[in-house]
Amino acid sequence: MNAFEREPDEVLAELAALREADAPTHGGRVLSYVYDSGLAELDELAARAARLVQPVNGLDPTTFTSVAAMEAGVVGFARRVFHGEAAGEAGPGAPAPGAEVVGSVTSGGTESCLLAVKTARDVWREANHGDERMPRLVAPTTVHAAFHKAAHYFGLELELVPVSADTGAPDVADVVARLDDDVALVVMSAPSYPFATLDPIGEVASATAERGIALHVDACIGGFALAFRDGLPDWDFRVPGVTSLSADLHKYGYAPKGVSVLLQRGRDRQRRQYFATTAWPGYPVVNPTMAGSKPAGPLAAAWAIVQVLGEPGFAELTARATTATATLREAIDGIEGLEVVGDPVGPLLAVRSDASVPSERRVDPHHWADAARGAGWHLQLQPGMFQSDGTVLPHTTHLTVTPVTDHVVGELVPALAAAADAVRGVPAIDGGALVGGLIDRLPGGATALAASSGPDSDTAAALLSAFGLLGGKGAGGALPERMAPVLALVEALPGPLTERLLVELLARVVEPR
Ligand SMILES: *Cc1c(COP(=O)(O)O)cnc(C)c1O
Repeated sequence: MNAFEREPDEVLAELAALREADAPTHGGRVLSYVYDSGLAELDELAARAARLVQPVNGLDPTTFTSVAAMEAGVVGFARRVFHGEAAGEAGPGAPAPGAEVVGSVTSGGTESCLLAVKTARDVWREANHGDERMPRLVAPTTVHAAFHKAAHYFGLELELVPVSADTGAPDVADVVARLDDDVALVVMSAPSYPFATLDPIGEVASATAERGIALHVDACIGGFALAFRDGLPDWDFRVPGVTSLSADLHKYGYAPKGVSVLLQRGRDRQRRQYFATTAWPGYPVVNPTMAGSKPAGPLAAAWAIVQVLGEPGFAELTARATTATATLREAIDGIEGLEVVGDPVGPLLAVRSDASVPSERRVDPHHWADAARGAGWHLQLQPGMFQSDGTVLPHTTHLTVTPVTDHVVGELVPALAAAADAVRGVPAIDGGALVGGLIDRLPGGATALAASSGPDSDTAAALLSAFGLLGGKGAGGALPERMAPVLALVEALPGPLTERLLVELLARVVEPR
């Protein structure tokens, strides 16, 4: 073949150069998004497994039977560690007929959550046919945004239950008070992303089970870590009212991105997850997930990792992450002006300003994160927000702790303390004042902002440029040096406007130049 336009090696060298500019995926310097086991051989194993199935189409496990075998293996492992397996074929511990736990491998946590909601909606519709109401989805305010997306996609009304700013958990009675026959699904997290709270799953499950309402446990982030921890209240299929559970293999399953599992209690429930049609002249379509043709690589990688690690391997990696989380928690609570939010079950946590010390001794968590970033540590800023009852959730900084964190915690702890020293006493950015100051510089001033409930693309880009978030016309760009001012804008601007602006920013970043 000599019609190649460029040398493959040269193209790969270009890609390698592009990768140099990425945030580091390994070594524990990025405390969100990436989950480093610290074991290079696991990454190598995943790459080799993915390569073996590279040309396979995961669409049809009857043609590519390796896909069926790997999926059964991964679902089987998940079902075992989340206690959805029959204790025996019969006798005590066996599932009631129709209550077997079955599952699917999906492309990620969002897809698992979307499918859990779609399934619950369809089950609800069948049971309530003729009910013209929009079904409700009830969840704490800390529920992952994937459920906002699911409610939006599938036509449910999302009802958010406030959580305590001190514990990060909702009040059980408050959740129960919202249960009625138009509730298609309640979602609890194990743990929540923002504060790492283990929601009161057992208590809520008693109430939902009594009323025949479905209960999903979102264990996307922490599931494959918490499953290997002792001393927690039951949160998985040991709780009888839990009807589905999601857990991501591309998080604490250490697989490359693109793999999660959704388990459902009851074959008949789970079959509602599928889409099938023969009503076209092509091949019969039977899809358990959203995609048609799909890669088998992430599944193969996850399968290989699960086979190699087994439960003892997972337990050891979880122990490392847990130790590192405890070390960090203690260290951060020991930093004057900062405190860990609530009672995080790990292996993640959130940090806020300690209001019990005088303001000149307080540390704003967003300035702190920016200072740590300057020293090469990437922490994730989370905005504060009002809840429906008027209470405020603090703005915080999030740390996802992985096994590799344990190797670097000796460097990380002093870096976090130094970052706090650098910004102690610096007040949080006043988003309202920031917006006010910027408005004067906007083309069209306050009128532009007032009229910008739904700005068009060019107006949105002009606003972003005025806020210093977008370079020249049409050009996207890297994130600004400091994120605290960006989060202050997110907190101060009306939600729909911020969302529109962020859409514009992300869309322009990928526009061809
Ligand atoms: C990451 C996450 C999700 C969504 O998963 P993606 O893999 O990012 O699509 C859902 N719930 C929780 C709690 C998560 O942390």
